[in-house]
Amino acid sequence: MTDLKILLLTPPMTQLNTPYPATAYLTGFLRMHHYAVEQRDPAIELILALLSKHGLSEIKAELEANFEGLSEEDVPYEVSYFLENYFAYANTVEPCLRFLQGKDPSLAIRLCSRKYVPEGIGFDALHQMEELEGGEHLFYAFGNLGTQDKAKYLASLFIAGLAKVINEGIDPRFELSRYGERLAASNPVFDDLHDSIEGQETFVDDALKEITLRYLKETGANVLGITLPFPGNVYAGLKIAQTAKAFNPEIKVILGGGYVNTELRSLKDPRVFQYVDYISVDDGERPLLNLLEHLKGERPESELLRTYVLKNGLIEFINSKKTHDIPHRDVGTPTYDGLPLDKYLSICELPNPMHRIWSDGRWNKITLAHGCYWNKCSFCDVSLDYIARYDEAQADIILARMEALIAETGQTGFHFVDEAAPPKILLALAQKIIEKGLTITWWGNVRFEKTFTPKVAQILAASGCIAVSGGLEVASDRLLKLMNKGVTVSQVARVTQAFTDAGVLVHAYLMYGFPSQTQSETIDALENVRQLFKMGCIQSGYWHRFAATVHSPVGKNPEMFNIQIAPQEDIWFASNDLDFYDPVQCDHDALGKGLNKALYNYMQGIGLDEDVRIWFEDKVPRPKVNPNFIESALRQA
Ligand code: SF4
Repeated sequence: MTDLKILLLTPPMTQLNTPYPATAYLTGFLRMHHYAVEQRDPAIELILALLSKHGLSEIKAELEANFEGLSEEDVPYEVSYFLENYFAYANTVEPCLRFLQGKDPSLAIRLCSRKYVPEGIGFDALHQMEELEGGEHLFYAFGNLGTQDKAKYLASLFIAGLAKVINEGIDPRFELSRYGERLAASNPVFDDLHDSIEGQETFVDDALKEITLRYLKETGANVLGITLPFPGNVYAGLKIAQTAKAFNPEIKVILGGGYVNTELRSLKDPRVFQYVDYISVDDGERPLLNLLEHLKGERPESELLRTYVLKNGLIEFINSKKTHDIPHRDVGTPTYDGLPLDKYLSICELPNPMHRIWSDGRWNKITLAHGCYWNKCSFCDVSLDYIARYDEAQADIILARMEALIAETGQTGFHFVDEAAPPKILLALAQKIIEKGLTITWWGNVRFEKTFTPKVAQILAASGCIAVSGGLEVASDRLLKLMNKGVTVSQVARVTQAFTDAGVLVHAYLMYGFPSQTQSETIDALENVRQLFKMGCIQSGYWHRFAATVHSPVGKNPEMFNIQIAPQEDIWFASNDLDFYDPVQCDHDALGKGLNKALYNYMQGIGLDEDVRIWFEDKVPRPKVNPNFIESALRQA
């Protein structure tokens, strides 16, 4: 191949509010190296095709055919409600999408009237909360944020309801932010995905095929790069590859992305290569460059970097040492050229303040560094390149990239997508933004470490920082030490207060079910969290259930955490989460319900003076934490 035409795609489904950044990075990088590259986003296009007036008329016809002749009780509620209210859905779907695209703000008043869209599907949680709170839920959830936010929430529930109709009546793999996720996540065998890809195609498959063929025709691509960031992209990614191979058997298909990097490191099933030609792991820039040179006949196959190929029916991993990864300072500026920036949807499905920032509004995504400068947490993938290889770029390089993105997109909002943004670079960048008098709005993940003094937090806020998220994890000093997090609860209190005082919203990642965590420690953790909310240190949070993963210190050295990993099946396809036995017995599932209930209420300022035990259905121990623990920690600042 001499004349390479490259097409990069992010398969459905990911976030709907903004493009996933991988193709933007690679397009910018490859164009810098003079390749002809186009990028497209089939995820947003698929949603807009399905949820259009025409799409709904086809969904209606498909549902009527699928459920023809069945008795009423055999038709899912979502399907019968949709069919009964079809005209209301068909008449409001496009105005709602335009509203969520920010193109028709005046619709907000009609949406808030609660008489505009049908509320039969997707609104259950809201209706339940309204019943409990006497119709006051929207008021509590959004405070005085106003009509636009409430309307976005209602329109998002409406869209989520339509996704449920598709899920129940047409394609059970389909969800709004993931597609066929269960087929791919930690699945040791390829059979489920293979059967699904080769099985009966649904209306959603047909729509995706149409979009893929349109892209292939308009770009004339002979190389197709598909990024698979999550398990919920894999099914659609392989369907796209299948369509491309059927359309043009000569096309070269390459897979990469976060899912591949974490889950496909023990890949053995050759059937995956029915759909693809190359699979590369870890950072994509150099492997892709080597591969494209190989396709042009300028580099032997033996010089590929971290790339799986199929040879004589067996998978081979080629990892030449002749070339090295591209330093972060040289990866170039991402470009969004080719992506329909005016079509993304500001979805707001949960009245969680951080979730709103995450899913509402369009953000230019950029990384300050490659990897994590801490790289020590025992639950994290610290053995993998995306965490372990730390490589930063200077603040002025980052700022130049940001200015180029603003010039291209006209948008000044940035999400720093580092796993943990390095404080030194953040501060230097903030000072440069202030010096230049730029208007930028930004947010990102940090470690709650001592460097973030009140003064530093003020500088970051002055440069446009509106929110930070960070790990408080198990909120217990014994367990934070065991997980090598490098922070204490008192330190987190002081750092988060510094951010809050500077006017920055703080979201805490919380965790429960860590090895050896007792019931009493979980209750104490919630007491710490209650006090942090009460003292105004944090405004948002999310409890994650601990999972032992293959690439983490816990997964690699379970004996150090006094747990036993369950014997694994022979891995032919994906592997990530590990089952384990913990001799410290604790019903984490039951505790999880109470933790989530408490947090949901704390985020709305409810129950902050109540005993934490009220949130649990079963009896739990009294917290042992001093009721003034966080207040005293703040006084020591
Ligand atoms: S959990 Fe965060 S801070 Fe810890 S090693 Fe992973 S990326 Fe770094």
